[in-house]
Amino acid sequence: MRYICLILIIITTSCKSSKISNKSSGNASHTVPAGCGVDCMAQNELLKSFENIFYTKIDSSQLQIGINFFIVNREIESQLPTIQTNLLELNSLFEGSIEFRKHKVIRLESKYKLPTVYQDYLDGGQLFDELSREVAELGYINVFVMETLEETPGRKLHGFTPLYNDYHEGYAKVAPEMDRLMVSFEGLEFKYSLYHELGHYFSLAHPWELSEAQKLVLGLQDPQEECVNHMNYNCFVNKFTQQQLIQMKAFANRYRSYLGIRGAD
Ligand SMILES: [Zn+2]
Repeated sequence: MRYICLILIIITTSCKSSKISNKSSGNASHTVPAGCGVDCMAQNELLKSFENIFYTKIDSSQLQIGINFFIVNREIESQLPTIQTNLLELNSLFEGSIEFRKHKVIRLESKYKLPTVYQDYLDGGQLFDELSREVAELGYINVFVMETLEETPGRKLHGFTPLYNDYHEGYAKVAPEMDRLMVSFEGLEFKYSLYHELGHYFSLAHPWELSEAQKLVLGLQDPQEECVNHMNYNCFVNKFTQQQLIQMKAFANRYRSYLGIRGAD
């Protein structure tokens, strides 16, 4: 598969981010400041360069998207309260932008754990497909919840989302192939992994992958804002910025509209 980009969350016990130098997947905004310094000029260039990718007319109504949850090796009933809590908070985070609705909750069996499936996927193996391809449903986000484990002291994988790096049109063409994401039970329980992975699903990058100009566009120029942002690691994350929400909604409108997204009444 071309242009595949894998995203993972590694949570360590400390509040220190592992910095990765990488090219951002892009940003969008629909306003340009009047006065322009170096940062602002860079910002304008950024807006221009991503305009074709991300610009779309923002629908003022709220989008509605269904999520299927696939629970691996645990009783569905034990996870329903956690799913409900996640959805409530998710809808609070995305209020006025996207509304998420639980569609199905289904139990699956697998002898593997999240890091094994992820590593196998990186290696071109079939474990992820064997678990998820048959059951992934067109028109929905399909979330697979699995056990994880500590691979090295203090470090666990809590999720991953297969993404195209620069082929957003492909999502509709291969759906539901790229509508499958994985999170750990722990990540779901502590309410960070699903929000983070959905951020990736709707085009957001990690803050440390962004230039200063891109952070400015996304409202992440303040270190405190960056620290608590759901796309960060190892901090007490609790929010998306308004600009990130706008970008995610624009991306959903343009590239994920096959999800059965409809404007709310
Ligand atoms: Zn991530």
